[in-house]
Amino acid sequence: MIDHMATASPSQLLLAWYDRHARTLPWRVSPDNRKHGEVPDPYRVWLSEIMLQQTTVAAVKSYFEKFVSLWPTVEDLAAAPEEDVMKAWAGLGYYSRARNLKKCAETIAAEHDGRFPADEATLLKLPGIGPYTAAAIATIAFDRHAAVVDGNVERVLTRLFQIETPLPDAKPDIKARMATLTPDARPGDFAQAVMDLGATICTPKKPACGLCPWREICAVQSSPFAETLPRKAPKKEKPTRFGAAFVAVDINTGSVLLRRRPPKGLLGGMTEVPGTEWSEGFIGETALDAVPFAAPWEKQVKQVTHTFTHFHLKLSVFRADLIPTQTTVLAGSWWSSPQELGEEALPTVMRKVLSAALD
Ligand code: SF4
Repeated sequence: MIDHMATASPSQLLLAWYDRHARTLPWRVSPDNRKHGEVPDPYRVWLSEIMLQQTTVAAVKSYFEKFVSLWPTVEDLAAAPEEDVMKAWAGLGYYSRARNLKKCAETIAAEHDGRFPADEATLLKLPGIGPYTAAAIATIAFDRHAAVVDGNVERVLTRLFQIETPLPDAKPDIKARMATLTPDARPGDFAQAVMDLGATICTPKKPACGLCPWREICAVQSSPFAETLPRKAPKKEKPTRFGAAFVAVDINTGSVLLRRRPPKGLLGGMTEVPGTEWSEGFIGETALDAVPFAAPWEKQVKQVTHTFTHFHLKLSVFRADLIPTQTTVLAGSWWSSPQELGEEALPTVMRKVLSAALD
């Protein structure tokens, strides 16, 4: 055993650990099943990778299960109405990903006979697939040799090799080292193994170095220094934008007036209550000048705060209880009943608005 440990390569050490400790994930084929001939479904690998961008495994699991039960194949997803896809995605954030997901499914169905291409270069041409996702699909779904680098991999490798250059400048070095470490045999399992190591052992705080299969070769193992890696270039301060949201409630039925956002741009195609533009110069106190129509609007005590990638948002929320009339029918809007509200394609920020006005 000791001889084997002494001569095993870093990839062999990690794969042996992965064989025993791989996380069970709904889109993953376990190493054991893979050895018995089961191959990953590229559709499931792609779907999970798109969902996991900017989001955690815990947040993604239920969305993934919902998508594969509604649309078991990429052709099913390609044929689905876009509105249904947006509704199923609502709450997961970064909605351009959902629109690209749909476009990518349509391209695979129409131009690739329903089959995902296996090589990175062709994958890169598909909507919503960048260098990371192309490498992940090629490696995990098709066992192609590619260097897959996500946040977990960055953390593990900057520690393993003591890379002190801050991110993002360290990225090319990390990618080159991952390419060198990745073995020709089982490259897909290896990529997932590094991700699992980062998620379960080489964690941001208090890495469990004593349990790590790479502890003998790690440059920083068991030192407090490990937690300081990876270094990150200081982030720019995000600006804060302000706006107002108007929740009109039908006195008799409890229905709420909703509308669809324009197809392009932030939260494009998602559903919202009427509201103002969001800008740094907006002054909440003058929001009543911007009401969509005259009604007994009342400012709610709760203000909604939400953080997007590039800015923080503070929304003043107004509510009016009324009987719908001609003047309250805005172009492109509709009344959604309390039973239907949960099914609407409402992004998280709008769910917060409704909860501030209705709870
Ligand atoms: S020994 Fe510790 S710091 Fe090094 S890779 Fe393993 S868990 Fe991370």
